[in-house]
Amino acid sequence: MEINPYEIAKKQLDIVAKEIQLDPNIHERLKYCHRILTVSIPIIMDDGSLRIFEGHRVHHSTIRGPGKGGIRYSPDVNINEIKALAMWMTWKTSLLKLPLGGAKGGIKVETKSLSRGELERLTRRFTVEILNFIGPERDIPAPDMNTDSQTMAWIMDVYSMHRGVTTPGVVTGKPVEIGGSLGRTRATGTGLFYIAEAICKKCNINLSDLTIVIQGFGKVGSVIAEELYNIGCKIIAIADTSICIYSNDGINIKELIEWKNETNDYRELKKYQKDNLEKIPNTEIFKIKCDILIPAATENQITKENANNIDCKIILEGANGPTTPDADEILNKKGIIVVPDILANSGGVLVSYFEYIQDINAYFWDLERINKELKGVLLKTFEDVYSLSQEKKVTLRMAAYILAVSGVAEAIKLRGHYP
Ligand code: GLU
Repeated sequence: MEINPYEIAKKQLDIVAKEIQLDPNIHERLKYCHRILTVSIPIIMDDGSLRIFEGHRVHHSTIRGPGKGGIRYSPDVNINEIKALAMWMTWKTSLLKLPLGGAKGGIKVETKSLSRGELERLTRRFTVEILNFIGPERDIPAPDMNTDSQTMAWIMDVYSMHRGVTTPGVVTGKPVEIGGSLGRTRATGTGLFYIAEAICKKCNINLSDLTIVIQGFGKVGSVIAEELYNIGCKIIAIADTSICIYSNDGINIKELIEWKNETNDYRELKKYQKDNLEKIPNTEIFKIKCDILIPAATENQITKENANNIDCKIILEGANGPTTPDADEILNKKGIIVVPDILANSGGVLVSYFEYIQDINAYFWDLERINKELKGVLLKTFEDVYSLSQEKKVTLRMAAYILAVSGVAEAIKLRGHYP
């Protein structure tokens, strides 16, 4: 049965609302997205035909500051997914105590089937359609699935041309040459790595001795794979949408990344040929015994249907919303530690925030400063979450949600009701 991500996101809110006895009026308010915009995007394709794409931009909350969140391009994009992702961004920025709200956008499109020119026209026209919805003081998009620094450069250009002033602060994740931040591309994966180190320390285990399984080999999965490989971890399986590659001796990540980067085209793992690798259906990924499992693909992957098969010590959520609440319960009973998305993958939006303040100040930091501040904020947040979970004897997800939702609730209380 198809799982509605927004129902899942609301269920997670209900669970924490009960735990903290959230004011029912605030609870009611947080169940709704503040603004929702759906647009049709007409594009002249390379063959001269016209195609209409559907896109969305959603502000879940701007209580704590401008909306913040990525734009994804995927055939699975739908309004419920974008609403859920926007709500999760509200919690993520609140947990990090950033002066930002939660937003998300997306276009329903299979990017592999579009030429670069078509992608550019699609991005530019989408930007025009959401022009009054975004802006440095309103809502600041960033990359997400199948979008990158080039996508952000096009959005920044269209916005700037319409406003008549170059406005780097309208998006984050831009190329460094036009106001992007050093370290942004790898930030989510780098942050995951710091969090992996921190949780292993708490569990008294040595990260470099561990076996790892990763679902997803995009911007997040490939970076965390590389970081872990470099310190000696054995990455035994990686899945993408095409297949799962497996090797009991560990996959050579350096070679795999070189192969992936050989061409600009997206390379599916099923085309990767190596003698020591087994290829199995990607649905088998959650059956592989390992120490750390990293879902770094998309939402609703670990469900009550497959959670019982999972055999690992720690789950590190690189994706947003990869685990359903039903699955969470099963994992918890099995004694598996789940480091939740809004903490584990928050390095991306954190460096986005650094980019945003660098743009506002027109003063840019070196990579050393970026990584130092990234590590500092993430580890501090990790400690807050971890100690609350110990104190209250709740899961890390519950502890993270308590902090995140309480932060937003407090802001609503302080601002009061308008009018
Ligand atoms: N798309 C990323 C996320 O889901 C980054 C969002 C941002 O930087 O605004 O957290």
